[in-house]
Amino acid sequence: MVDLYLATAASDALRAALAARFTLHEGDPPTTARAIVGGGQMRLDAAMLGRLPALEIVAINGVGYDGLDLDALRARGVRVTTTPDVLTEDVADLAIGLMLAVFRRIAANDAAVRSGGWAVPLGRRASGRRVGIFGLGKIGMAIAERAAPFAGELLYTARSRKPVDWRYLPDIAALAEASDVLILAAPGGAATDRIVNADVLARLGTEGVLVNVARGSLVDEVALIAALQRGTIAGAGLDVFAEEPHVPEALRMLDQVVLAPHQGSATVETRAAMAALVVANLDAHFAGKDLPTPLL
Ligand code: NAP
Repeated sequence: MVDLYLATAASDALRAALAARFTLHEGDPPTTARAIVGGGQMRLDAAMLGRLPALEIVAINGVGYDGLDLDALRARGVRVTTTPDVLTEDVADLAIGLMLAVFRRIAANDAAVRSGGWAVPLGRRASGRRVGIFGLGKIGMAIAERAAPFAGELLYTARSRKPVDWRYLPDIAALAEASDVLILAAPGGAATDRIVNADVLARLGTEGVLVNVARGSLVDEVALIAALQRGTIAGAGLDVFAEEPHVPEALRMLDQVVLAPHQGSATVETRAAMAALVVANLDAHFAGKDLPTPLL
């Protein structure tokens, strides 16, 4: 059987499907590995690639690929697949959920009631807000469609202008300035590294809320903590963090922050669909057929 390096946590169903087809390896990748299954945050650089002379395909169980050296993989002719589309709706749902939870203090109120409390501070109105979306791709568009019925205005930034009626802002500073809620839905990587810095947070303003369902790397976490502590912004809903699974204690202490452990795609339905795509891509590759969802 073909050697496959499993570089991510996998559901029992995915593990069983892979084990039926491949010899699975975990821990250190064997030099004989012809396939890797990794998560959306997998790191694969040129040095690691050099130690994997038999590698033919990397199947990512997710859509983030900012940890992969795509140039090195392309140069070696290694195929790369992701699981686009099937997770879009769930990530968008979570973004809206985090936004509502921050404005209406859902998590803090839940904690208060559980500990016997009842009198809690007022929340703030969520509807009628100017919602700015950074990255109007598949997930950003699904967030916009959900927000449209109750937003005061929709705004967005992407690398290119889209054929939509929502207001386009050329960069994140201008987007933050014009928004009450800044939702991040762009990829990680060098171009977006800590793009949400102290200046962007100051522009978002004292009534502003940051929601991040993209990658922790987009946010200068030290600047975010300072902005939340000083009231430079009003709150944040965060699914992703700079050094997962580490979440700074300072963030965990703030009740105007709602935290999720990278749950964007984490539903039974979507995880099953993602696993099916991973397996379909591997099956196609080893059968010499076209890949269902190729990145490279
Ligand atoms: P996508 O369809 O490729 O959309 C990405 C969007 O970001 C596009 O609109 C793109 O602009 C924009 N963009 C890219 N680089 C940019 C830059 N430097 N400045 C401004 N905008 C930029 O990707 P997607 O499927 O929506 O996924 C987006 C990201 O969500 C993924 O990369 C991943 O990191 C994250 N994600 C998180 C979870 C989670 O569990 N929280 C789950 C899935 C995905 P153009 O359209 O102009 O190219």
